Amino acid sequence: MRVTALAGGIGGARFLRGVLAALPDADVTVIGNTGDDITLHGLRICPDLDTVMYTLGGGISAERGWGREDESFVVAEELAAYGVGPAWFGLGDRDLATHLVRTEMLDAGYPLSDVVRALCERWQPGVRLLPMTDDRVETHVVIADDDGQRAVHFQEWWLRLRAAVPAQAIVPLRAETAKPAPGVLDAIGEADVVLLPPSNPVVSIGTILAVPGVRDAVRETAAPVVGVSPIIGGAAVRGMADACLTAIGVETSAQAVGVHYGGRGRAAVPSAAADAAAPAGLLDGWLVDTVDAGAVVPGATVLARPLLMTDLAATVAIVRSALEVAGV
Ligand code: GDP
Ligand code: CA
Repeated sequence: MRVTALAGGIGGARFLRGVLAALPDADVTVIGNTGDDITLHGLRICPDLDTVMYTLGGGISAERGWGREDESFVVAEELAAYGVGPAWFGLGDRDLATHLVRTEMLDAGYPLSDVVRALCERWQPGVRLLPMTDDRVETHVVIADDDGQRAVHFQEWWLRLRAAVPAQAIVPLRAETAKPAPGVLDAIGEADVVLLPPSNPVVSIGTILAVPGVRDAVRETAAPVVGVSPIIGGAAVRGMADACLTAIGVETSAQAVGVHYGGRGRAAVPSAAADAAAPAGLLDGWLVDTVDAGAVVPGATVLARPLLMTDLAATVAIVRSALEVAGV
């Protein structure tokens, strides 16, 4: 079976671990978000791609969920001693080697997708990991504070400001001229099932969908498309996704996120809601937690199951529910 998933960082990577455990023989392609990418100290850093690569390759810090296990921060301490920031971005010593290799390859002219493939030769994540684009797209957030209205890099808003300053807009800069990386559109078009993991709907999945051609590919694929809600009981399970949703005018609820993605209007189990003039959205199926049972997404089948990825077994059960609603 060919499975294609869009993915951000931690939520995406944990879900993908369940996909690989549930479907050990599947051919899994992951389209990763690169909108969080940032250049620091001359190094190109791709946090979400690395989180997926390290998580599936066995190198992730289990405690933090990002960065490397057995990590030290000597270089970061030395930079701080020079008064060189930013202090809000965690750069571990082991992790730095990844950024050095990546930057060297990019500077030599290799596209990011080639770089990711080279890094994955070491990590063997068990999936084909593709960046959403080889072009530079960086998410910026428009805020207003004592310094007036300005745009900051998403990482500054997320890590330094902890998303506590309201976002007036969240903009994936240069997305409109980006091209999907080689293989991205085919992976969506030729899949047997397309999965939207419980990643941030705005700055992870939303950014991938903002690359021209990707949203249409998901809409038009012959494969069933099933999403998993990152929102349970009106709150993000982890992180500040609520601040992102508020910025785009979407309520922080499993139903509202499902409606935001939209049903495709060809639900496997026809319902009155699906028959009503359904928007041409992305989803055939939408998984919500049992506490959100009763959520309705016109044009999609909604299934309520426990959605906390507390351990691998719980995550595998979520993946099986997604496949069940997909009918594959
Ligand atoms: P990031 O790039 O590291 O922020 O990771 P993602 O965008 O892939 O995922 C972040 C989202 O994962 C957050 O909005 C969380 O609500 C969601 N999330 C984290 N853990 C869980 C979980 O156990 N269950 C569900 N349903 N969502 C989760
Ligand atoms: Ca991210």
